Amino acid sequence: MRGAARIRTADGEDEWRARKRKAVHAGLDFISTTGLAMLRSTALHARHGSDILLPFHVPRSNPTEEEAHALLVAKKLANEWRMQHCGKQLPNRCEPRQLLDLMQGLYALEELGLGDPVLTSQVAERCAKFNAVDFFKFDPLHTEPGAFVCEDCVCGARLDAESAHCTQCRRPAIRMSAYDVWLEALVFTFHGCRMGIGLGACFFDILRQLSTAFVAAHGKTLAQKDAHYLAYALTHVIYALSNFNERSLPPSLFPPPIRSCLLDRLKFALKKRDPDLAGECLDCLKCIGERGQTLNAAERFLVGSQQADGGWCCVRMILRRAASSGSRS
Ligand SMILES: [Zn+2]
Repeated sequence: MRGAARIRTADGEDEWRARKRKAVHAGLDFISTTGLAMLRSTALHARHGSDILLPFHVPRSNPTEEEAHALLVAKKLANEWRMQHCGKQLPNRCEPRQLLDLMQGLYALEELGLGDPVLTSQVAERCAKFNAVDFFKFDPLHTEPGAFVCEDCVCGARLDAESAHCTQCRRPAIRMSAYDVWLEALVFTFHGCRMGIGLGACFFDILRQLSTAFVAAHGKTLAQKDAHYLAYALTHVIYALSNFNERSLPPSLFPPPIRSCLLDRLKFALKKRDPDLAGECLDCLKCIGERGQTLNAAERFLVGSQQADGGWCCVRMILRRAASSGSRS
C-alpha cells in the first residue's frame, strides 16, 4: 500500500512539474509575441520603454529546455531593440528619462553578449551633463526623497515636486511614496553601476537609505501604498544582488524581518489574486532560500491563473491605468 501511495505521489509530482514547464513555455511565447508588438508600436514603446526586454539572467552555456527558450525570446527582443536604437548618433541634448531607458536596454543587450560600446559611450557622455536630482528626483548623497515628489505623467511629461497637475495634459499629479522613489533609484543605479555610467549616486547609497527606512518602519503599520512599494523595493534589492537570478543569495544576508515582510506581501498578493506581486515575491523568496506552504500555494496560483494566451491579467494594473486615463480633466 505504502509503495502504491509513493507511486501515486511520484506521478502527481511528475504531472505538476510537467504543468509548470508547460506554463513557462506558454509564458515565454506570450512575452515574445507581446514584446515584439510593443517594441514595434511607437506609443507602447514610449510608454513602457526598455522594460519590455527580458531582464532576467539566462545562462548561455548548457541551458535547460526552458532556459534555451528564454534565451531565444530574450535575443529576439534584444535584436528588435538593437535595430531601433543602435548605430544612431544621439542628439547632444537628451532627456534624463531617455538616457535611463537606453541604459536599461543596453544592459540587457550586454548581458546577452550583444553590447554596443559606441552607443554606451554616447549615453555615458550625455549622462555626465546631469546631476542626481535630474535622474532620481532627489539627491541621495544629501537628502531622502521629499514628501511631494510626483510620478511622471502618463502623457510622458515630468512633473516638478509639489505640482497639482500636469502642465501638458492637465491630469492631476500623483504623489509618489518615498519607497517608490527609492525603487526607481535602485533600478537606475543598478544599471548605472553595472554599466560604469555615473549618475551622481550609486546603488549602495540608495540601499543604505532604504535599509535605514526599513529598520525605522519595523513594527509600524505602513500605509497601503508604502507597503506596496516597499515590497517591490525589497524584491529589486534581491534582483540587483543576484543580477536578476544569475545566482541564489546566502540566506544569512536577509534577516527574519525582511523574509516576513516579503512573506506577508506574498500572502496579501494571493488574497488579492495579484499575479505580478505574487510572482516577484515568490521568485525573490526562493532566491534567498525560503521554501514552504505559502510558496507552494503561490506557484499553484500562478499556474492556475495563467490565461489561454500564456499571459496573466493583473486587475490592479488595469484599474490603475483606467484611473489615470479617466482622470484627464
Ligand atoms: Zn500629462
